[in-house]
Amino acid sequence: MKLTPALLPSLIEAIDDVIEKNAEEVTALDQAIGDGDHVINLQRGINALMAQRDELSQMDWVLAWQKIGMTLMSSIGGASGSLYGTLFIALSKAAREQPLDQQSFADIFSKGVDAVKQRGKAEAGEKTMLDVYIPVAEYLRTAAANSVAFPEVLATVPQVAIEGMESTRDMVATKGRASFLEERSRGHVDAGAKTGQLMICAIVDILSKQLTTPA
Ligand code: ADP
Ligand code: MG
Repeated sequence: MKLTPALLPSLIEAIDDVIEKNAEEVTALDQAIGDGDHVINLQRGINALMAQRDELSQMDWVLAWQKIGMTLMSSIGGASGSLYGTLFIALSKAAREQPLDQQSFADIFSKGVDAVKQRGKAEAGEKTMLDVYIPVAEYLRTAAANSVAFPEVLATVPQVAIEGMESTRDMVATKGRASFLEERSRGHVDAGAKTGQLMICAIVDILSKQLTTPA
């Protein structure tokens, strides 16, 4: 199985689709404890990537992630724009420093998530998208260290992402707009955690299909 940027058009289309299908639910989450624009912000970024998907598919991962980061940075807006831009630019930078394979991806992804933590001045437990990305990064590193087989990794990542998303429900927000509500932010899943989980599950779905397709 070859995991090249030739997969990007199908990944971007799957993400577009899953965000569209869940738009109402996520908007309701961001309306409950934010300003309700998270889906619109994200869709601006996804639409920009949809327009670039053929071009991106011709690049290598280093160039593609760099371009995705720049595009998201300039198109999304909101708090999530600079965070998603930072994530992909950091993935590109980390991938430039080491050859990309299943082992190194865990390290590269973790560096991306660390860059988001720095950018947002946020840690785990603050009721943000990081409560999905941090546990996924930790799982990927543990799996790589224990040489867990790729199909098992793909089967486990969605569970980790869903648990992370669910964990935000009982948290009190200490970053972003939801933090203004203090204790009243408790009881709602964070919108950015929900879209993070949805996108990760959509990506895993495409990769799993790729895995079962004969080369
Ligand atoms: P805005 O909050 O500016 O309206 P969005 O609605 O697009 O931007 O995104 C809000 C999401 O961004 C939140 O649900 C949360 O997951 C994430 N977020 C907000 N602030 C931070 C931060 N400092 N670090 C990490 N993620 C954050
Ligand atoms: Mg918002």
